[in-house]
Amino acid sequence: MTTAATAAPPTLDRPLTDRIAAARGVMFDIDGCLLLADQPSGYGGTVLPGARRALEAVRSTGRDFVCFTNGSFQTPSAIATTLRGLDLDVADDQVMTPAVVAAETMASRYPGGRVLVFGGEGVIEPFAARGVPLVDVDEAIAGRAGDVAAVVVGWDTEFGRSKIVAAAEAVLAGAELYTTSAAPTFASHERLNVGVSGFIAAGLTHVTGRPYKVLGKPSAEAFQAICRKTGASAGQLLIVGDDLRMEAGMARKYGAVGVLMTTGTNSREDARSAAADHTPDLVLDSLEELSELLRDPAGAVDATAAPSGTEGS
Ligand SMILES: [Mg+2]
Repeated sequence: MTTAATAAPPTLDRPLTDRIAAARGVMFDIDGCLLLADQPSGYGGTVLPGARRALEAVRSTGRDFVCFTNGSFQTPSAIATTLRGLDLDVADDQVMTPAVVAAETMASRYPGGRVLVFGGEGVIEPFAARGVPLVDVDEAIAGRAGDVAAVVVGWDTEFGRSKIVAAAEAVLAGAELYTTSAAPTFASHERLNVGVSGFIAAGLTHVTGRPYKVLGKPSAEAFQAICRKTGASAGQLLIVGDDLRMEAGMARKYGAVGVLMTTGTNSREDARSAAADHTPDLVLDSLEELSELLRDPAGAVDATAAPSGTEGS
């Protein structure tokens, strides 16, 4: 058993503030970053301190942002409505979910190809909005799916034997298998909140012997979709979130600046002991600090570097 290498602890130095100054786009995670939800995926909750000002700081410095949650139960517009109800100024098309990534990826990877999608409105709507041709699930269940380019499994709590057969037939006939998320569980105030999408995808892999690909954070497909939406290149993107495996891991893998917020899943101590491929570039306790950094990156490092008690000397 080997111990994973750890990177140097994050420090706010000139090279990092230069990268922040060069950022053109920001991805904010939602749960544990912008707000503490009553339930996952933005069903109301409590806005975290500095969240409103951080969104404003991104805008006022000429940058673009997206809010990305790995939940696909709700449509992006429903999530955006919830965020605006909490006085967070977010447009419908600034909310991204794995279903948005799935729809964009299928459209570009299989142009004109028919996709068999399992899930509720939150999963289906982004495909419909982009005009991706879908296989009728009832036809597939009846054995009349026809040619299927890909099978996408989302949050489908009605996934029983007939759907297992339809999905497995399509995969065995050559369709690629995707899932919106492979998270085993989600944080919840109440009972164990299980990840339905990954459970189904793992089951289909068991049945078919074919691997599944994940489209939510921290996938390459999700990262590319965020870059497209914000107009930022990989190195011009700030990825802000509370989960080292998701946001810090994605930033590290694809060359963005990773910022861990300690307001949710992972702590400063977690960041210190994280494996090198999950280590954030910066750890912040408040989005207020992020606003200052976006407005004046060099000033922030000067403030950090000044020894205490020597102000004005
Ligand atoms: Mg989170």
